[in-house]
Amino acid sequence: MRALRLIKEEQLEFGAIDDPPAPKAHEVLVRVRAVSLNHIDLFGLRGMAFAKRTLPLVVGVECSATVEKLGAAVSGFREGETVVIYPGLFCGACKACKGGRENLCESISGIMGFHLDGMARERLVVPANRLIHVPPQVNAIDAACTTVTFGTVQHMLFDNARLERGETILVHAGGSGIGTAAIRMAKIIGATVITTVGSADKAAKAKALGADHVINYREERFEGAVRRITGKKGVDVVFEHVGPDTWAGSLLSLKRGGRLVTCGSTSGITAETNLYTIFQQQLRIIGSFGSTVQNCKDSLTKMAAGLKPVIDSVIRLEDFPQAIERLRSRDVFGKIVARLD
Ligand SMILES: [Zn+2]
Repeated sequence: MRALRLIKEEQLEFGAIDDPPAPKAHEVLVRVRAVSLNHIDLFGLRGMAFAKRTLPLVVGVECSATVEKLGAAVSGFREGETVVIYPGLFCGACKACKGGRENLCESISGIMGFHLDGMARERLVVPANRLIHVPPQVNAIDAACTTVTFGTVQHMLFDNARLERGETILVHAGGSGIGTAAIRMAKIIGATVITTVGSADKAAKAKALGADHVINYREERFEGAVRRITGKKGVDVVFEHVGPDTWAGSLLSLKRGGRLVTCGSTSGITAETNLYTIFQQQLRIIGSFGSTVQNCKDSLTKMAAGLKPVIDSVIRLEDFPQAIERLRSRDVFGKIVARLD
């Protein structure tokens, strides 16, 4: 079967790999329908010391799939139904897992597409406890944006930053996959959204998505614009995933007692922090990684109710390496999804 593999750092190759084995008693064989493209497929491991892995590695951390064959002891799923796969191999037995915080699992054995072979392949076998039902209203392309794109944002905004109706949030990179999701999820609960983009074209698209204020960071310093827009008060929440390029400005954009939630650092991994700002302004900085199974279920419920992911383009899996170049150049608005069927 065909698969997309990382053969050395930042180099992808599309080619043949062995077919998966038959599913064991508690496993399920699935046929992958669509894989969503993420920065971590190519760049995410730069500087992340914890992410030890062996190459070549099948990439792909989020996908939708059709159930093809159930292991003998599997119940609750049926052949032919659409599912998504939770990418973390959580233990299911520790305190965090039992409390529904699978992304804090004390003995997680890896993340698919990250430390272990991922989902950018035609078929794979997964333990049944990591499959999540997709409601019939959600198509396979949108469903491929569940576990990372929507799940991460759901976890950041609501479990971690505890964003509420009436609050103001600054969403960085409003044209990115998670930026577009954050704008929509924040707007739908009644928050005021300020976002940053790097072009006039993206500014128009972010406005059309519902952002109340759009800042072109190439034309003005975003922290100054945030102060102007909020009447010098600052925002309640900053949604960070850029890192050193925005970090200092993000902290300055918060109001007293504000919360910064971060899930990524695409511009590097080290940034200076003004500690005086942290304690004097009584800020809270919250790290967020991945999502819980419940976040994924809530994301699919939102999609079924009409809150769709923003899809930039749908490509073939074999065109994935070129699409990564578009991600690198930031010439994307929303998600690039590769379909396999
Ligand atoms: Zn666990």
